[in-house]
Amino acid sequence: MDTDFIVIGGGIAGASAGCELAAHGRVLVLEREDAPGYHTTGRSAALYTENYGNRAIRILTIASKPFFDQHGFLGPRGVVFVGTAEQDAAIDRALEEGKAFPQTFEEISKAEALRLLPILRPEYFTRAIHEPDATDMDVHGIHQAFLRTLRERGGEVVTATGDAVARPSGSGWAVETRHGTFRAPVVVNAAGAWADRLAEAAGVRPIGLVPKRRTAITFDAPAGTPVHGWPMGLDIEETFYFKPEAGRVLASPADETPSEPCDAQPDEYDVAVCVDRIERATTLEVRRITHKWAGLRSFVADKTPVVGEAPDAPGFFWCAGQGGYGIMTSPAMGRAVAAIVTGGALPPDLAAMGLTAAELAPQRLHGA
Ligand SMILES: Cc1cc2nc3c(=O)[nH]c(=O)nc-3n(C[C@H](O)[C@H](O)[C@H](O)COP(=O)(O)OP(=O)(O)OC[C@H]3O[C@@H](n4cnc5c(N)ncnc54)[C@H](O)[C@@H]3O)c2cc1C
Repeated sequence: MDTDFIVIGGGIAGASAGCELAAHGRVLVLEREDAPGYHTTGRSAALYTENYGNRAIRILTIASKPFFDQHGFLGPRGVVFVGTAEQDAAIDRALEEGKAFPQTFEEISKAEALRLLPILRPEYFTRAIHEPDATDMDVHGIHQAFLRTLRERGGEVVTATGDAVARPSGSGWAVETRHGTFRAPVVVNAAGAWADRLAEAAGVRPIGLVPKRRTAITFDAPAGTPVHGWPMGLDIEETFYFKPEAGRVLASPADETPSEPCDAQPDEYDVAVCVDRIERATTLEVRRITHKWAGLRSFVADKTPVVGEAPDAPGFFWCAGQGGYGIMTSPAMGRAVAAIVTGGALPPDLAAMGLTAAELAPQRLHGA
C-alpha cells in the first residue's frame, strides 16, 4: 500500500479529517482543483454560532470552540435576529430552543436592537433576539492550520488530481487520479457536494445527499457609515442576513435551491431577491454590488453530518453532509472521523455531550 489513509477532497472537511488521521498514520489528501478551498469552503459567511442547526450540530459546534479559541480564529461579531409581526411564533420557538445551550441568547427591546443595528427599519420588525457571543471565523486561517498540521505530521496534499475515482482493490482501495493511482486500506470520502457521486462511482450505496445553492453578495455601505462594529442582522426564519465584511456589507437571501454538484454560480434572480429583502428590512441602498458568488451547502435528510464506515464497503468512510455548518464544526468533525476510522467510537468529549456514533453513521439513512 502507498499510504494508510486516502482522503478525497481537500476542503475544510478533508483537511480537518486528514489532519487528525495524520496522528495515526500516513495520510494522502487528494483534491481535484488547484486550490483546496476553491469550492464551498472558500465561499462561506464565516460565522460561528452555537444557536444554529439541530442537536448534533450544536454539540459538534460547541466541541470545536476550544480549538478556535486556542488558535485565535474567532473575532467579535454578535447576531441580532429580527422578527416581523407575522413571525411571533418563530421568535418564541427560537428562544425556547436557545435555552438548551450555554451561549447568551435573549430577547431585547426594539430600542436596543436599533442601538446595535441603527440601519434596521423600525417599522419592519416587532421583536428581536441578541446573541452577543456569535463570532466571525478566520476560515482561511482555520483551513490552512489543518493543512499545515497535516504536513507537519508527515501527510501530503496532492492538488489538481482531476476527478479521483476510488475502486475496491484487494483488501483495500485504489484511487485513480490524473497523477496516477494511489492505494490504501482506508478511503475517506470528504468530497463535499460530490460525495454521493464519488460513492456511486466506487460501487458504494449513496446517502441521498442534496447540494443546495446559496448566494451571497458584497456591496458598498453608505460613505462614512461605521460598518465594522455592526453585529450580523438575521431574519428569524433565515430568509436573509447581512454582516460587515472588510469595510463593505455581505448579504445573502439565504436561498437553498437544490443543485447538481458543480462550480456554483449566482443566479441573477437570487441576487435581486437579496437586494429586495435587505432594502425592505434596512435603510441600506444597494447601489454597487462589488462581488457576488454562490456555493453549495450539502445536506442529507436529517441535516446531520454523516461520519462512519459504509456498511456495504469495508474501508470506505463517509465525512459528508456538513450543510451550512461545515466550518464551525470542522475541528470536532475531524476528530470524530479519526476516532471512528481508527477505533470505531467517538472522542470522549463528544460522547460525554450525548452524541452517539449511530447518530452520525450512514446506516441511519438507509432505512430498515
Ligand atoms: C454562502 C455560504 C455561507 C456559509 N456560511 C457558513 C458559516 O457562516 N459557517 C459555517 O460553519 N459554514 C458555512 N457554510 C457552509 C460551509 O462552507 C460548508 O459546510 C463547508 O465548506 C463544506 O466543506 P467541504 O470540505 O465538505 O466542501 P468543499 O469545500 O466543497 O470541499 C470538497 C472538495 O472535494 C473536492 N472533490 C470533490 N470530488 C472530488 C474527486 N472526485 N476527486 C478529488 N477531489 C474532489 C472538491 O474539489 C472540493 O474542493 C456556508 C456555505 C455557503 C455556500
